[in-house]
Amino acid sequence: MVTVQAATMLQPGEIALREYPKPEVAEDALLLKIAAVGVCGSDKHMYAGKMNLPWPVIPGHEFSGVVESIGPKANGSMKIVGGPLQEGDRVTVVPGSQACGKCWYCIHVPHRPQLCPNRSVFGFRTSAEAPHLFGAFSEYLYVPGDAFVLKLPGGLSMERAALTEPLAVAQRAVARALAPGVPYAGEGFGSGARCGVMGVGPIGLFVVASLRNMGAGEIIAVDMSEERLAFAKKFGATQTVNLSKLSREERKEQILSWTDGVGPDVVIEAAGVPAAFEEGLDLVRRGGKLVEVGHYGDPGGVEIRPHVVCNKDVDIFGSWAYPQIQFEPALDMLLRTPLPIDDIITHRMPLSQVQAGIEVTGTGDCLKVILEP
Ligand SMILES: [Zn+2]
Ligand SMILES: [Zn+2]
Repeated sequence: MVTVQAATMLQPGEIALREYPKPEVAEDALLLKIAAVGVCGSDKHMYAGKMNLPWPVIPGHEFSGVVESIGPKANGSMKIVGGPLQEGDRVTVVPGSQACGKCWYCIHVPHRPQLCPNRSVFGFRTSAEAPHLFGAFSEYLYVPGDAFVLKLPGGLSMERAALTEPLAVAQRAVARALAPGVPYAGEGFGSGARCGVMGVGPIGLFVVASLRNMGAGEIIAVDMSEERLAFAKKFGATQTVNLSKLSREERKEQILSWTDGVGPDVVIEAAGVPAAFEEGLDLVRRGGKLVEVGHYGDPGGVEIRPHVVCNKDVDIFGSWAYPQIQFEPALDMLLRTPLPIDDIITHRMPLSQVQAGIEVTGTGDCLKVILEP
C-alpha cells in the first residue's frame, strides 16, 4: 500500500506525522500534491486549545500544489478559474467548500457564501474518515467535487501562491471600506485615503500591502514591535507608531498630526486585541470607516461608548473570510505587485518540523512560516 504522510493534530498540543493510505480519487474529485503551505495564527490557536474542533484534524489551509490525479468528472463538478484542469497543473484551492445553496444565508445573501453554516473548510474539518486528507500539512490533499480551484498564472512561484489565502483575507477587509456607488470623494476607501492599521502581523501587513496596491495615501501602522513596524514600511506604510513607546494620548496626538487633526478616513483592526478595536474607534475620523478583521479567535471584550459611534456617524464593518472569488484578485496582486512580498516568509521548514513551525509562529521576528512537504 502506498502511504501519505500528514501532520495530524490528535488533540490540542499534540501534533505528529501519521501515515494514511494514498487515496484513489472519486470521479468528481482530485488529488493535490502539496508544494507549499503556510502556518497561520489560527493553526497556533488550534494547537493552544482555543478552538473546538472534531479531532483529529490535519491543519493547513494556505497552500499551493500540483494536480497529481483527477477524476473524469471533476472539471464538471468543481468551480475552476483558468480551467479546465489536467494532471500536472499548478493550482491553489480555496479552503472553504462551495456554499450549500439551500440554507437561509445561501438563499437570502448568496453573495456572502462565507456565512453558510454548511461549508467545510480544509485544515479545520476532521480527518477521522476516509479519505482523511482534508488539510494541507500533508504530502497530498484530497479535493472533493465541491471545491473552488484556481490555476496559477505562469511566473508565480508555488511559495508565493501559498500566500493567496491570507492576502484574500486582507483584501476583503480593505474592500469592506469601499463605498460603491457613492459619487463623491471623502466617502470610504479611495485613492489617497488616509488609513490606520492596528497590528501588523501577517494579516495586518497584507492589509498594508493591499491598501498600498489600491492607491491609499498615508498608511499609519500601529504595533508594539519595532521589527514589524519596519517591515510595514517595506509594504507601503508611510508612518509608524510604536505602542510600547508612546502613551495612548501621545499616539493619538501623533496620528491626528498626520491627518489634519481629524483622524484617518479608514481604520482596520488586525491585531486581534480587543483594546485595539476600541482605540481604532477613537482614532477614526467622524464619518469614517472602521473594519474589524483581527478577531478570528475570541480573546474577550472591551468597553465601547455607544455615544462615540453615534456622534462620529461612523461605519463599522466586520470582515469574516471572503467570497471564494477573492482568490482571483489576490493571485493577480501576488503576480504583479512591486512590493517585496516574499520577504514576509521568514521561515521555511520541512513537514517533519511542523511542531517547531507552529511554535515559532507569532513570536519574535517570525512573520510567515512555510512548510514544504
Ligand atoms: Zn489563515
Ligand atoms: Zn448554505
